[in-house]
Amino acid sequence: MGRLLSVLMLLALLTACAAPAAPEKDTPLPPEPEAQEASLPPPAPPEPEPYEISDPTVEQEGFVPWTGTVEHLFFHPVIAYPELAFDGDGQANGLDDFMVTVDEYNRILESVYEKGYVLVDIHSVWSEKEGEDGPQMVRNTLYLPEGKKPLVLSYDDTNYYPYMLENGFAYKLIIGEDLKIASWGKDPEGNEVISRDLDAIPILDKFVEEHPDFSPFGAKGCLSLTGYEGILGYRTQTDTKEWDDAKEAGRQKEREAVVPIIEELRRTGWTFGSHTWGHIRLGDGNMTRIEADTQRWLDEVGSLVGETTVLFYPHGERPDGNDWTLTGPAFQYLQSQGFRIFCSVGVESFSFIKKDICAVICDRLHPDGTTLRHSRDRYLQFYDAKDIIDLEVRPEREVSWE
Ligand SMILES: [Zn+2]
Repeated sequence: MGRLLSVLMLLALLTACAAPAAPEKDTPLPPEPEAQEASLPPPAPPEPEPYEISDPTVEQEGFVPWTGTVEHLFFHPVIAYPELAFDGDGQANGLDDFMVTVDEYNRILESVYEKGYVLVDIHSVWSEKEGEDGPQMVRNTLYLPEGKKPLVLSYDDTNYYPYMLENGFAYKLIIGEDLKIASWGKDPEGNEVISRDLDAIPILDKFVEEHPDFSPFGAKGCLSLTGYEGILGYRTQTDTKEWDDAKEAGRQKEREAVVPIIEELRRTGWTFGSHTWGHIRLGDGNMTRIEADTQRWLDEVGSLVGETTVLFYPHGERPDGNDWTLTGPAFQYLQSQGFRIFCSVGVESFSFIKKDICAVICDRLHPDGTTLRHSRDRYLQFYDAKDIIDLEVRPEREVSWE
């Protein structure tokens, strides 16, 4: 063993010595001796850890069918630095309403895990099947480990909008030195920080690494993306008011930079959906606007993340004002563009397969300041808000459960 080690060390030393120094400008590189090339091949580039994704709709031994409700929780990016978010500026109350902090998010994950939820991807829950009157959405049977309950997670506005950057959120996703997704941002003192503990996405990656039984099929969450300020912290958007070649060149660079992030997210169980390009209201029946926005999302976001069948309504606002008993022009148009799963926000994980068109509508629950403060009972199946909310760092506002 010791001998092998010393041989290896010698080899490593030889490799290090044999590496040619960077050539001076204009100095031709001397040809490398052939013998050396043959005996010391260049080291293979580092490989990311393998990651397995499987299909929960396939029966397997020891797994039992689940036909009950599939719970669906959604988050926004989480607050890494509460002192920046809750600094009393004009946005503090909005952030208190709609976001959770990193600590709260960690406690929520821990609680849903302990309560027996396991992650499934939203795409696994329904499928499109040929019916008598054309294609229809059908609810799939999921096969889960005995005693487990399915949970879908989605994450709205994972664009890392500029306003978030001053307010204590991550700036962008990157690939860290360990080849894993990390966030890049700045701490309150302005120091650059690369971390896997400060953003919802790498935090869930890490949680699944530490608790693989939380994701028996490798699923993570579905990222709901707008396009108007780029995606995942990369400024991939166009601007129709002011544009020139330099801006377009910058945009192309951002597009190139985000591709490996998207690939790594996909490889490790994340999927993507549309949140419309401009975070627009779908209820007002402005078809010109809805059509132009959809095409722009497909051009600027769909061209990067790929086709998607999932649409997350901005503001939770239903197309044509009603997507349940009505299939209006906006709904029909969005369905014609490939969307099949239409997600709103509600008081339970309600879902409804439409009969007159191939589509399913579903509501999501929203762990955030509003529900932590005022809807404790409704979320007890997932967690107890009393144990989650961090009133020390949040603004002094009411809670309904004391
Ligand atoms: Zn949104």
